[in-house]
Amino acid sequence: MRIFHEPESLKKHLSSVKTDQKSIGFVPTMGALHEGHLSLIDAAKNTTDKVVASIYINPTQFDNQSDLDAYPRVAEQDLEMLKNRGCDIVFLPTDTIMYPKPSQLNISFGSLENTLEGKERPGHFNGVGLIVSKLFHLILPDHAFFGQKDYQQFLIIDQLCQELFFPLRLHCMPIVREANGLAMSSRNGRLSKLAFKEAGLIYDSLLRAKAALLDGIHIPMIKEEIKNFYAGQKNFDLAYFEFRNKYNLQAVDEQMEPKDMIICIAVYCENVRLIDNLIINS
Ligand code: AMP
Repeated sequence: MRIFHEPESLKKHLSSVKTDQKSIGFVPTMGALHEGHLSLIDAAKNTTDKVVASIYINPTQFDNQSDLDAYPRVAEQDLEMLKNRGCDIVFLPTDTIMYPKPSQLNISFGSLENTLEGKERPGHFNGVGLIVSKLFHLILPDHAFFGQKDYQQFLIIDQLCQELFFPLRLHCMPIVREANGLAMSSRNGRLSKLAFKEAGLIYDSLLRAKAALLDGIHIPMIKEEIKNFYAGQKNFDLAYFEFRNKYNLQAVDEQMEPKDMIICIAVYCENVRLIDNLIINS
């Protein structure tokens, strides 16, 4: 596995890969890797000839300094995991490389951004758009792999690629979960043992809401039940629980069929923000 810290040497190596007519699959990450990230590496390996992963904690996508400070940094362990999984190339840049000076660029994603995570975390998707654009330009992948776990992020990047004509194919891969149903996340390590165990209830609540929807229960009633449920959980603070149009994340109406919906949740547990979602594919 080749490791690069500098764009110039990375680009030189990748251009030799391209000259050999090999396709490049790219998996951007912020490190503290788990099976969710590694499933993206597997998908990239199954689709492309050479897999590039990046590990970079992008400061511009954090709306909260303490969240950035608390983000786990375990590069050695990450590199070992990537190597064992057969990743070919890793890009590990520094802040000075990715942002030689503070960026004045502001990418706005309109209605896709002004809701859910974008609404609760001002500037977050501008930071995501910036860093993903920079990485795509440096790496020039043929395919890029993202997790459904951050579904709004996937739609944002899809919009970015379409509007800016990035010549690559995007893939949205399924959410990998812990045995109790909790979506794997680099943030889960900040939970106490008890909270980690209890956090299985997040996925349970999504499944319960989906079952109720397919049983024909009206959405406001389902949301009411879920809100009451979280109000009774002392370790959990619900930020949102929403049924949305899965293509654009706008509000659903009574006419919309369940198969076109996604249920999205954000919840705080021991001050850790956890997100999850469930696409209704009945
Ligand atoms: P992050 O390191 O959190 O920026 O995540 C890097 C990529 O891994 C993103 O595309 C995430 O959506 C994806 N990812 C994170 N958690 C999971 C998971 N549990 N299952 C599948 N993909 C995930």
